[in-house]
Amino acid sequence: MTIADSINLAEQPTAEGGFTSSVYGPVHSWRLGWSLGVDLLLNTSTCSFNCVYCQLGDIQLKTANRAIYVPTEKLERDLRLSQWEKADIITLSGNGEPTLALNLGEVIRFIKEYTQKPVMVLTNATLLNDPTVQRDLALADQVACKLDAATDGVLQRMNRPVAGVTLEGIISGIEAFRRGYKGKLSLQCMFMPTNSEDVDALTGLIAKISPDEVQLNTPKRPYPMEWVVDSRGNHSEPLVKSQQLRTISEAEADRIEQLIREKAPNLPLISIYRK
Ligand code: SF4
Repeated sequence: MTIADSINLAEQPTAEGGFTSSVYGPVHSWRLGWSLGVDLLLNTSTCSFNCVYCQLGDIQLKTANRAIYVPTEKLERDLRLSQWEKADIITLSGNGEPTLALNLGEVIRFIKEYTQKPVMVLTNATLLNDPTVQRDLALADQVACKLDAATDGVLQRMNRPVAGVTLEGIISGIEAFRRGYKGKLSLQCMFMPTNSEDVDALTGLIAKISPDEVQLNTPKRPYPMEWVVDSRGNHSEPLVKSQQLRTISEAEADRIEQLIREKAPNLPLISIYRK
């Protein structure tokens, strides 16, 4: 499917006679329990990064421009029709970077009022220097920021950002948001051989930011060779032809954990190898 073909997917009927919902799950997550997913991108994979390990595959719309990709009215309708009562938490993630959605704040307000459940946003932190994005994110109970690189070289190789995104901008954005945020701030760090050279510096950065929690991960899901809307979920088997990625070993994860514990002894840490 090309971007042009997919632009109106949000309102297209499916083969089963339903419609493509902006709400999915709940799906089980090793970090969150039962999590209901909210997808404010939906029409195609849309992100300011194009991570080498992304479960969406090669990002189709690479952009740092905020826009309304899914109207708030559609999200409201989809949420009412979903199984939201079964969820422990409602997570904004989906088919790309949620802070690109210009209606993010409006949507978080509605979800919290309607469900009375905690809301979490997973973000790549590339837009966190924008005060409007900070205000939107401040409405969430939890924000998890991606941080995989400690140098611009690794950022370019591993996260492959759109032009203009720098590590300095990402770090200053996280720190600025951290200063005013009252909720729980996590850092999610993906480790692969690609960023192994950055481990020492990265653990130093983690200690400096001093989040409420750090989550160590390695890409166990294979990389899909094409995008399908359902890639946003948590599937035990690949949905399309996929390719395995190089992960770090449990011993390497232990070494990273140890380094973080030396630099930030009181920082709560969860690791994919200890789930
Ligand atoms: S930030 Fe997330 S959605 Fe964007 S490319 Fe990376 S893994 Fe994929």
